[in-house]
Amino acid sequence: MNKNLLITNSIPYVNASPHVGHALEFIQSDTIARYYRLLENKVLLLCGSDENAIKNVQAADKSKINLQKFIDEHAKEFQQLAESLNVKFDIFQKGSDQKHHFISSQRLWRLCNENDDIYKKDYEGLYCVGCETFYTKEELGENGECHEHPGRQLEKVIETNYFFRLSKYQNKLIDLIQSDSLKIYPEKRKNEVLGFLKQPLRDISISRLNERARNWGVPVPNDSTQKIYVWFDALNIYQSGIGFGWDDKLYKEWWPAKIHVIGKGIVRFHAVYWPAFLLSAKLKLPQSLFVHDYLTVNGQKMSKTIGNIIDPFSLIKKYGTDAVRYYFLREISPYSDGDYSEKRMNEVYSSDLANELGNLLSRITTLAQKDNLSIDKTNLVISQIYPKNLKKHFDNYEFNLVLESIWTNIRSLNKEINDFTPWSKQANERKTFLISQVQTLNLIGHQLLPFLPETAEKIIQATQNKILKIQPLFPRLK
Ligand SMILES: [Zn+2]
Repeated sequence: MNKNLLITNSIPYVNASPHVGHALEFIQSDTIARYYRLLENKVLLLCGSDENAIKNVQAADKSKINLQKFIDEHAKEFQQLAESLNVKFDIFQKGSDQKHHFISSQRLWRLCNENDDIYKKDYEGLYCVGCETFYTKEELGENGECHEHPGRQLEKVIETNYFFRLSKYQNKLIDLIQSDSLKIYPEKRKNEVLGFLKQPLRDISISRLNERARNWGVPVPNDSTQKIYVWFDALNIYQSGIGFGWDDKLYKEWWPAKIHVIGKGIVRFHAVYWPAFLLSAKLKLPQSLFVHDYLTVNGQKMSKTIGNIIDPFSLIKKYGTDAVRYYFLREISPYSDGDYSEKRMNEVYSSDLANELGNLLSRITTLAQKDNLSIDKTNLVISQIYPKNLKKHFDNYEFNLVLESIWTNIRSLNKEINDFTPWSKQANERKTFLISQVQTLNLIGHQLLPFLPETAEKIIQATQNKILKIQPLFPRLK
């Protein structure tokens, strides 16, 4: 144990304010980070902002705000969202940071170039600004639109670009993924990537002319007419944030990443492009990818057109940080699309949180206080906190299943109280019963630490030393 583990959240574009989909991923990354910390590792949780994309430039234009200011303000909002979700990013690396990120990305470029993997050629292709990537006709839907951005026309681009020899790494990538050297969670995404790798890989454009980049982004080393393609630099935020190209000692302490947390729409960039760049630069590869699905709202995809975009800040304000964390970790299965609805949120809040967990703690502490109960602080070792069945789910990042199992336990504690009716029993008999209940609740508090950090702390505090009646964990909604 006591390993250094780098865990990364994906790097959001900052062309708009964060939505609940971002909140979902922030919560997942943070839960993973807290879990590994609980297992006594040293953990660094990294996020950042993808600031060199054309869509950022376009959005700033539209809002008539100075580009840097526009980007800084949005990046700030993402950091504020993290804070209000009690998500602790140890590092937030901005893509427009010339001092660290530009130098770092140019270093990666030079290493690939030294390996003879970068060459210049004329190119014509269809570009989706939403994805910031080129597509071939076969990869698009019937109407010629990309699957991630229906309703948006692709741009036809003709220019001279630098290309990366992706094709050279095809077999190596297949080996890595097949053997789980680069492990992809869940299995279905691994198979999807392997399916994609069955077709011949084409080399990819990794630069664009200054004019098309609107002169925004990381300059290509030794060519003042071009900027580095946004994915090449955005992926490198995982490294530039921890010293690659500017602090070798720091970089060696933390790279390679233990896990990249990403959404299903960007698997190809992470499972194909990114490891290929790293192989070319002769750098170590990340160990794994956790690929979550998307959030729908009332069964529909979130979109501005439908007008069902949910502001995560108002959600947190209404229900509280831990209730939102609970919903996203328990109700949303990490590996399939999950739905958010206010109706379900209210149900979960009052049944799972207020009634089952909150009531349990308040019933037990009230009884224990009456009996003047005092229990020594427990020093649980990690194997006691997560018995095998829970650990197995956690190691597969199946947060919903871990919580389900914890809640089964919570329900049986409630049932035991109802069945035993401690208030009707002799003092001695009641004491034995309450001690066992308090201890189990204390264990549950520890188990909940990665999920609901604040609530978990309250439960732990309330179930050790002199037991006092506590305030409701989840007060009635107004
Ligand atoms: Zn697209």
